[in-house]
Amino acid sequence: MTSIGIVGAGIAGLHLSLLLTQRGVSVTLYAERTPEDQLAGKLSSVVTRFGPTREREQALGVNYWDEPDFGAFCFYVNVLGEYPLAFRGDLSQPAQVVDMRLYHAKLLEDLLDRGVDVVYGSLIADDLTILADSHDLVVVASGRGSLTEIFPKVEEHSPFTEPQRHLFGGLFNGVSYPEPLGVTFAIMPGHGEMSTIPIRSFKGRQSALFCEAAPGGDFEIFATMRYEDDPKAFETLLLEQIKQHAPPIYERINPEEFGLTRPQDLIQGAVTPVVRRGYAQLPSGKWVLALGDAHALNDPCIAQGANAASHAAEVVADAIVDHAIYDEAFCQAVEQQVWVNLGAATAWTNANMMPPPEFTGQLFVAATQSQAVANAVADNFADPQRGWRVMSSADEMSAFLAELGWQPEPAPEHEPEPAVA
Ligand SMILES: Cc1cc2nc3c(=O)[nH]c(=O)nc-3n(C[C@H](O)[C@H](O)[C@H](O)COP(=O)(O)OP(=O)(O)OC[C@H]3O[C@@H](n4cnc5c(N)ncnc54)[C@H](O)[C@@H]3O)c2cc1C
Repeated sequence: MTSIGIVGAGIAGLHLSLLLTQRGVSVTLYAERTPEDQLAGKLSSVVTRFGPTREREQALGVNYWDEPDFGAFCFYVNVLGEYPLAFRGDLSQPAQVVDMRLYHAKLLEDLLDRGVDVVYGSLIADDLTILADSHDLVVVASGRGSLTEIFPKVEEHSPFTEPQRHLFGGLFNGVSYPEPLGVTFAIMPGHGEMSTIPIRSFKGRQSALFCEAAPGGDFEIFATMRYEDDPKAFETLLLEQIKQHAPPIYERINPEEFGLTRPQDLIQGAVTPVVRRGYAQLPSGKWVLALGDAHALNDPCIAQGANAASHAAEVVADAIVDHAIYDEAFCQAVEQQVWVNLGAATAWTNANMMPPPEFTGQLFVAATQSQAVANAVADNFADPQRGWRVMSSADEMSAFLAELGWQPEPAPEHEPEPAVA
């Protein structure tokens, strides 16, 4: 029987383990942390999982948090500043946000219940050679950890050498949900983007606030300011900045109740995006695959990393089942298949880190005028191949808008110049 070793119990490793187990392949999962460790950890992300990921979870029987009246049913977009606009795009398949500490712990427990062999410990690169001798194939899904350094960086797809945004966010009291329930997104020119997100966490239904702070903007400080030194000062300053720069979000905050739920519910940091080769050869000659963030680490600005990791897990699981030999040719073919979706998610995300080309402004304008366009803009987040295609050229965008029945309004005719006496 084929035996696969999977390193890392984030969404990539967990989904691959579940998919292979469901297909009757023997899996050993090498996890750094037990379910208890996961539950006790710090918040490290706020992951919106879109329709295709949720369908995969249903097929795997791990859709534990499905509640018809709780999820993200739409996106509320507010562009603020000099050229303000606002629209709401409804998702054709609701998205969902669950605290990943609960999510990882539950899926790991589930794998244990399904009889999967789970070995706890933090591996080093040399361990992979030992693992490769005991499995037909090893897949490294260790996220941002140092193990990924065995996979060479792909310069062509890694345009940045430093983070493009400063990140902070957390679970907050005093932030009410919009109705219908959805993710609100405020674009604050010069200061970054701020979202509020309905999330299922330790106390049931809660609210997350997340900011992609622009370097030099007024929110940058919150990515490094030490919350524990003076929680009140942190929260007061944050509230002031939200009031000044993101009024649509401030409107739904009750200042009396506003505050972080617990110190461990705060995220602060930054991501330097990097794409690595999707496979590597060990000194022993065996080949290993990279999966999830270990393959491509993207800034979270457009919510693609975990969704792309889940998608890639399915591609890898199918390929493992369809083949018997896991050599270089196999790894190359898998990388190519994974890259169709992951490459689009990466290119689209990286494009969002740079000043937008002029034609892209048309998309949001069209979304304010046409509900079909607004809904399609929301749905694009669940389909990075379409999302990136639309944003990749003016022609593609025009074709997308025309398909949705939207035409630019004709420019107003000029009044004839008054005759000069
Ligand atoms: C603030 C924030 C918001 C985000 N929002 C979204 C979103 O809305 N939608 C979205 O799709 N994505 C989002 N992302 C990205 C998403 O969180 C990641 O892409 C996703 O979690 C990657 O999953 P992974 O399994 O590859 O890695 P991870 O989740 O990092 O898991 C890696 C696992 O490997 C383990 N590990 C590490 N090193 C070792 C070792 N040496 N030995 C053994 N185990 C090891 C770790 O303990 C961990 O359990 C967000 C990220 C951030 C930071």
